[in-house]
Amino acid sequence: MKALRFYEPGRVALDTVDDPVAGPGEVILKLHATGLCNSDVRVYLGEKKAAAGVIPGHEMSGEVVEVGPGARATVGEVVSVCPILACGACSFCRDGYRNRCPSRKTLGYDLDGGIAEYVRIPLPLVATGQLLPVDRATPPQVRALVEPLACVLNSIESIETRAGAPLAIVGGGPMGLVHLLAGLAYGAAPILVVEPVAERRAVAMKLGATMAVSPEDAAAARDSLTEGEGFPAVAMAVGFSDALPTALDLVRRLGSINLFAGFPPGSTHTLDLNRVHYDEVRILGTQNAPFHLYGKSARLVSRMPALSQVVTNTYSLDDAAEAYSARLGKSGLKSAVVM
Ligand SMILES: [Zn+2]
Ligand SMILES: [Zn+2]
Repeated sequence: MKALRFYEPGRVALDTVDDPVAGPGEVILKLHATGLCNSDVRVYLGEKKAAAGVIPGHEMSGEVVEVGPGARATVGEVVSVCPILACGACSFCRDGYRNRCPSRKTLGYDLDGGIAEYVRIPLPLVATGQLLPVDRATPPQVRALVEPLACVLNSIESIETRAGAPLAIVGGGPMGLVHLLAGLAYGAAPILVVEPVAERRAVAMKLGATMAVSPEDAAAARDSLTEGEGFPAVAMAVGFSDALPTALDLVRRLGSINLFAGFPPGSTHTLDLNRVHYDEVRILGTQNAPFHLYGKSARLVSRMPALSQVVTNTYSLDDAAEAYSARLGKSGLKSAVVM
């Protein structure tokens, strides 16, 4: 089959590799679409590790075409994948946080992922229900958003996003916009998006933001939308530590800021500790999602048609390497390889 492989920072290439075969308990998916994540780009830039020679891509959707002996799956099923291989026995796994398992492996980083014609889903993922059925009528590049949407649900739930409660999102890139759509699905209102790029602000408004402003106008927007109080929930969907002061400026007393995006290694920031102490502001982080949010995401993804507007750049498998270079240029929003 054809597959993209990651060799070293700055080098990915389309190769011909052996077709995967389903062993006992395993499943082969014929891929329909795989999203390119900012973390894939960070691997490409050398900011995040992945195995040399691995097939990247952890945001996968496809169809079951081969079922190994004893595997619980049906040929023809359309599924998205929770790509985390966790031990199942540590205290994090027992509490439902497979995403925090110390021996976690992830398809697309440690094991072959979905920028290929087929992917082998290892036994532990099949056995623990990590193949999530998704409505076949949903476009493949939207089905591939089950993983990133689960991550975003974890983010907005961590800051207690609720119906009728104001939400601020710092960063109007693809994941900031998925925060916006998820916030709308949860009924949050008003929703402010802070984003320096005018085209992205326009998309945020089109998708239903109450207001979308550049960082210089964030304080004025906060005052007009929350009568000066600030937002109980602030999600930072950008990995620049320089954006933290904006988030701190937006958050209400007793409010929470979630650091959703990863930062370049070694990123630090100083902050006024009394803002945390006297105002009882909470600063949290989330990465990926506990498993129950994957189920929620797989159900929601087909009911959020506007998600299709977030995937602006699609590539064939033959052009998959280009998806990386286009992301570096930051043209468009989210990219996906559609097979
Ligand atoms: Zn991702
Ligand atoms: Zn574990």
